[in-house]
Amino acid sequence: MRILLMIILLVLAGWWSLPWLLQHLPPGWNPFTPLAVTDPPGWLTRYKIKRLAGDPAACLDVMRRAQRSGKVQFSEEPTRQGACPLAQPLRVSSFGAVMLSSSFLASCPLAVASTMYVVQSQAELQQAGINSPLQRIAHVGSYACRNIYHRQEGRLSEHATADAWDITGFQLANGRWLRVEKHWQQPQDASAALHALWQNGCANFGNALGPDYNAAHASHFHFGMRGSGYCR
Ligand SMILES: [Zn+2]
Repeated sequence: MRILLMIILLVLAGWWSLPWLLQHLPPGWNPFTPLAVTDPPGWLTRYKIKRLAGDPAACLDVMRRAQRSGKVQFSEEPTRQGACPLAQPLRVSSFGAVMLSSSFLASCPLAVASTMYVVQSQAELQQAGINSPLQRIAHVGSYACRNIYHRQEGRLSEHATADAWDITGFQLANGRWLRVEKHWQQPQDASAALHALWQNGCANFGNALGPDYNAAHASHFHFGMRGSGYCR
């Protein structure tokens, strides 16, 4: 009986303090505030990104706010029909001051995760001891109407729905390149920076596959929306 009373009191105390909590929580920790691309990574952010897949209007709103704050530049593309249809894809052309080797087509959730990834990569690079900011990202595409590993049979790749992005290298403002194929193992500082950039992919995408996964990924990071924090 005493335990039951304690539980009731605790529930009441929680319920009473909820409005105060919701007002004073930072936006990134509040389950009811819409996602912003500057939110810290974590389970709540991951949940909010997942939820955007079922809410195109809310997703586009996140991207439009990100564009207004200068974190990303993108345009809305017409819906594509065919074997690999795309509903309202976005074409991402740059991430603020970070340029791209070419623009890429992305599902809205991939565009959101990619923007968050680039925002956080700047801090990750600094922590890895790289003092020149990120200036350019080289990639080999996002949308490709094909099966996994280009197989004849089997399930469609995440690339068939523009839900994955393949990055091959990063250029710093001082001109230096960090290339996945060349620098994954050495020199030591480039390797540490690339490992930090790959790890940051785990925090922002559903899955992050790199050179340690298999030979097919020796030259690039595959960042996709399937799964939840799957990193290999
Ligand atoms: Zn890929």
